[in-house]
Amino acid sequence: MNIGIVGYQGDVSEHVEILYKLSKQYKRDIDPVLVRDKKALTYISGLIIPGGESTTIFQLLKEFDLFNAIKVLAQHRLYVMGTCAGLILISKDDPLSRVRGMGLLDVKIKRNAYGRQINSFSETIDIEGIGKFKAVFIRAPIIEEVGDVITMGKYKDVPVIVRSERFLGLTFHPELTGDTRIHEYFIEMIGRGGYISTPRRVWNVEEFV
Ligand code: GLN
Repeated sequence: MNIGIVGYQGDVSEHVEILYKLSKQYKRDIDPVLVRDKKALTYISGLIIPGGESTTIFQLLKEFDLFNAIKVLAQHRLYVMGTCAGLILISKDDPLSRVRGMGLLDVKIKRNAYGRQINSFSETIDIEGIGKFKAVFIRAPIIEEVGDVITMGKYKDVPVIVRSERFLGLTFHPELTGDTRIHEYFIEMIGRGGYISTPRRVWNVEEFV
């Protein structure tokens, strides 16, 4: 299964590494693919938009014509996991914000809500379907409002991990502790519906953008 990682800025190699680690301990083949242009979108079953700097990633996604391509593909079949900055990018669109959301996950986000970089922290949280997980929050956003999503975990009564049928969003970084369970959960989500067995042939993104 090919899993794309938006590869401009942020925790790119960390996601690649954890997917390699997972593929070794898992029955299924998992191949990380760096996504920096539209072509790469044609042969992935799932996409990770990593944490980093959301304004930077947003800007580059637009510049390389990927913002709308990902959005449209995700509306049709692509599974997407957004972590931290990545969550901001897949959340509800706010036309007044410098960073626009793709509107894939029905959540409203407030950026940098815990304060500055120095206010980053880690905390063990309880995640439905996964269990106790050490969550690393790096200048994290807060999920201010949830709409039509399932809340899987909270920190101080505020949702920090939510999902819908095809989209998974986290305000923390699951790629930093060596724990593969959240990536495995995402792969399982795809496995139940979106796995493309002959990926290089079946999808032509040009038809949708
Ligand atoms: N503060 C960052 C932003 O708003 C997100 C931080 C992160 O992804 N760790 O872009």
